[in-house]
This record gives sequence, C-alpha cells and structure tokens, in this order.
Amino acid sequence: MHQQSGSDQTLSSLHCYGYKDHFSHTESGHKVVSAMIIRLKQGVDPNSINPLLGALHAVFVPNGVANLVVTPSSVRDLPEEFEPFTDQYQVFDNDIQLASSLYKERREVELGPAVIGRDHQNTAVIIGPCSVESREQIRKSAELVKDLGLSILRAGSYKPRTSPYSFQGLAEEGLKLLEEVRSEFGIRIITEARDATHIDEVIAFSDIIQIGTKAMYDQGILRKCGKTTKPVLIKRGFGSTLQDFVQAAEFVLSGGNPNVILCERGIRTFETRTRFTLDLCGVAWLKEHVNLPVVLDPSHAIGMAYGVPDLARACMAMGVEGLLIEVHPDPANAKSDPAQQLNHQQFRELFVTLQELGNALGLRIF
Ligand code: PEP
Ligand code: MN
Repeated sequence: MHQQSGSDQTLSSLHCYGYKDHFSHTESGHKVVSAMIIRLKQGVDPNSINPLLGALHAVFVPNGVANLVVTPSSVRDLPEEFEPFTDQYQVFDNDIQLASSLYKERREVELGPAVIGRDHQNTAVIIGPCSVESREQIRKSAELVKDLGLSILRAGSYKPRTSPYSFQGLAEEGLKLLEEVRSEFGIRIITEARDATHIDEVIAFSDIIQIGTKAMYDQGILRKCGKTTKPVLIKRGFGSTLQDFVQAAEFVLSGGNPNVILCERGIRTFETRTRFTLDLCGVAWLKEHVNLPVVLDPSHAIGMAYGVPDLARACMAMGVEGLLIEVHPDPANAKSDPAQQLNHQQFRELFVTLQELGNALGLRIF
C-alpha cells in the first residue's frame, strides 16, 4: 500500500492488511479503539462500494477527486474487500478523524476578505449585537464594522433563549434587515440557526453559519451544514467535552463541507461568579490535536462587559484565528444579553489595544 497520487492529501498507512479482530491491544492489555480514513482511488464509482459501506457502517465523504471513506471506531485494519478501491489509508486511535491534526495540517477557511487557518496569521475580529433588533440598531452596528475596517458583522435572528418568554429574535424579518446592511455596507454576516426548521433559510442567507452552544448536538442542523460549502462556526456546548465538540464538527466534515471553524465560548463549571468558564486549556488542546481554525468568544464566557476587554486581549495573545465579541449601540436596552455587550466607545478602545497586540504578534486583523 502507500501509493502516491497527485492529490494534496497523503495518508500514512500505519497497519498492514488484515481484518481479524477489531481492536488492537496495548502492551498493558488495554483495548485501543481504532478508526480509519480510506482514500479511494480516483474514478471509483461511489455506487460500486455502497454495499461495502453498509456492511462496515462506514461513511462516504465527497472530497473532490480523492473521495474518502471514514470507518467507525471498531475498524482497525483495512478490510480486504476495500483493497481494490483503496489508494491509501490511515488508522486513528479514536473517533476524531477528519478533524484530527494527524490526518491533515491545519485547515484554512476563506471568510471572504481573508483566509484564516494554516499559517496565514489572519485574525477575524467579528463584532455585533447579540440579536438584530431594529433597522436603526443594525445599521449603527454595520457602520461601526465598516468604520473600523473590519469585515464581518455578527447578529442573531433566531435566538435560542433559555426561557420561552424572552425575546426570541426577529426571525425572517431580521434576516431581511441583515440583508439590507450587507448590501449597503459591503460586509459579511454571521448569524445563527436555532434549530433545523429554519436551517435552509440561514444557510441560504448567511456568509458564515453559526451553530450555537445549545444547537451543537442538533444533527438536523449539523447534517444540513455538511451539504453546503459555506463556512460553519460551531460553538462548543457549554456542557460538552472537547471530544463531543470535535465530533459535532465531524458531522459537518463527513457531510462533505471542509469549512468548519470551532468556537470556544465558555463551559459550565462549579464557578457561579462568572457566567461560564472560558476553557483556554481546551483551546490549547484543540490547537495541538485538531486541524480546524479556532475562534474565541469572551463575551458569552464571562457574561459581563467589564471582563471582555482583558479576556479578548488574552485570547488574541493566544494566537487564535478569530474573536467573536458582542457589541451593541445601547447595551442597557439590548433585548438579549444586555450585561455582556460592549458599547461602541468601549469596543473602539479595546480595538486599539487589539491592533497593538496584532502588530506585536505579527497578526493581521480583518
Ligand atoms: C450568541 O452568539 O449570541 C449565542 C447565543 O451564543 P451561544 O450559543 O454561545 O450562547
Ligand atoms: Mn448573545
């Protein structure tokens, strides 16, 4: 095995052929769960391997000329039946495959004006209100984005509120307002899907699709996002492990969409003085083990505006691909998340220091 091809992907085949048992064993006798990415030879008709996929519970992943098959975590060796179709294969020791840094170097995702990831040294500073509330409010927000030379406005229109009695977002009306400012100011929009009932609209409308902390496990949303090539930003479930988080990304990647960004936004711990706990250790783990760009959201993590500037600078200094910061023209009267949003003046002051940090670290903000 180990044939070369013209593709940009090279898998290392770590095991020889064989399909005897499903687990390898360490010297201490512990089971090691394995999974595999198989790169198919060019020209293999996906229909011809359908029965094999079914037997193995494996997933076919469209990937340009070099299509892939990803097997579940019980498969250690390349099944003999796959041999004639296989170009290369790689074995993994857990259920993080397409997102693994062992599979692929850090991915890059194009966000319009710039590409993040790989070694581009670009940092997307994405700002805007929690929710789109009115024409006037979202125009002021878009003006700020434009005035600072930034490119991406955030604002939710389908809000996943904890209470059914809280403001739920303007839904389609909000998307229309966002459309207005997008064309007037020539900026990009990231907006979230709350559930699968409106995911088609959000995919069609947005430049970047946001999947919120409560929607991270929504497979209706994840699977639909796998069928587009628009960038998808997945926020970590506030009660989710890193493994669950990355596996949510695997749903999108295995659907055929390589443009996935992870967003750490704080997890629930025993601490109650801050809204959540920003897991920067988890981000260090992601940077080491996962090939997806990472964005940090300090606003939802601390839940209080006073802490956002310090946290944003700490995140910037960590060298991540982006920041997501809630900024509102009149935070005190915001219809959602009023306590954590910076007003425009506060953000302008923070932005000066982010630019200084960016200059010092060789990072380009856009
Ligand atoms: C948001 O970005 O406004 C939001 C709802 O975030 P999260 O899903 O992280 O709570
Ligand atoms: Mn919010």
